[in-house]
Amino acid sequence: MLPHQGESLTQLVREEVLKLQPYKPGKPSEEVKRELGVEDVLKLASNENPIGPSPKALEAIQAALKEVHIYPDGGCHSLKHALASHLKIGEENLILGNGSDEIIKIIAETFLNQGEEVICGDPTFSQYAWAARIMGARCVAVPMKNFHYDLEAISLKIRPRTKLIFLGNPNNPTGTMITRQEVDNLLKNIPPHVIVVFDEAYSEYVTSPDFPDTLAYVRSGAQVITLRTFSKIYGLAGLRIGYAVAPPEMVDYMNRARNPFNANSLAQAAALASLADHEHVKKSQKLVAEGIKYLYREFKRMGLSWVPTQANFVLLHVGVDSHELFRKMLQEGVIVRPCGIFGLRDYIRVTVGTWAQNSRMVRTLENCLASFSRGDKLHMEQAAAK
Ligand SMILES: *Cc1c(COP(=O)(O)O)cnc(C)c1O
Repeated sequence: MLPHQGESLTQLVREEVLKLQPYKPGKPSEEVKRELGVEDVLKLASNENPIGPSPKALEAIQAALKEVHIYPDGGCHSLKHALASHLKIGEENLILGNGSDEIIKIIAETFLNQGEEVICGDPTFSQYAWAARIMGARCVAVPMKNFHYDLEAISLKIRPRTKLIFLGNPNNPTGTMITRQEVDNLLKNIPPHVIVVFDEAYSEYVTSPDFPDTLAYVRSGAQVITLRTFSKIYGLAGLRIGYAVAPPEMVDYMNRARNPFNANSLAQAAALASLADHEHVKKSQKLVAEGIKYLYREFKRMGLSWVPTQANFVLLHVGVDSHELFRKMLQEGVIVRPCGIFGLRDYIRVTVGTWAQNSRMVRTLENCLASFSRGDKLHMEQAAAK
């Protein structure tokens, strides 16, 4: 019997878990269809690829289906082989995961002791703080400066207890980038007890020539981990597969903390086939680059400001309560990400979609913004001025 007499379940749960809140994902389209009876739901809230996975990936999944009674290759040999040649690194530098989310957790489980510290930006991807907290470590969130990482402030937060620094590059939800020069400077001042993790989930979308080659640091044996994923440009978010590139010794320790069959067989097959489809990647990059241009033009026409992005999403200043705007847009079947959870109450984050999707989102946004009263906007301005 559970709980025992006189004992509440609360007393049985680990203290670290008691303090956690469950993750709130972008609203799934199916839920909106059910709740609103809207058939044509457009989700631009989770930075997925609007053209979906590569057709080659779909073929590979089809072929792998009849083998699903067999355990996957726990060492992901074929995929590692292909990734190693794709990235020009060794197979011993690679570890695959059930999405890069899982790798973030494996990093925390491998390196973090209770009472140690993790540094990350604010606002940023919530998984870094979550992974720290579940291990009983503390997350030190360093505010962004004009939506960019303040690497000087981050360096100043390094203490003997600091173990990990997580840097989203480009960062989610800001879409901004840390340059090669900035990374060079940062790494010069990192003491040997600190590991720097670059989360490059959106790196394939970056167009800036100043984007750092963090794999070069890994190759040189620096205490650096680079995270990549098949969820974004490769369009395999539903299958859950991502990876880390790290010095072999780090990979060995991370493998001890990993579940033996953490990357499933369909995901491995799809990822392998996706890597070979350069056309699909190019097509996705082109679509996003053109979509961004279109969105900037429309936002400008509407008198809105935004944070210039290096990813496939844009952080947009809407000047009204973003949760209220989210609800209004939802009524029209368009799902965006309100940014109150990131501490940005009058911002939304929108994923770049296809031409038709972008124009529908813009139309809906414009109509919904028009339905706010002047008072709503004034209220936000006063709140921002405080
Ligand atoms: C989407 C995203 C990921 C990818 O997560 P997966 O678990 O690989 O799907 C990782 N980091 C950031 C910052 C992201 O936005």
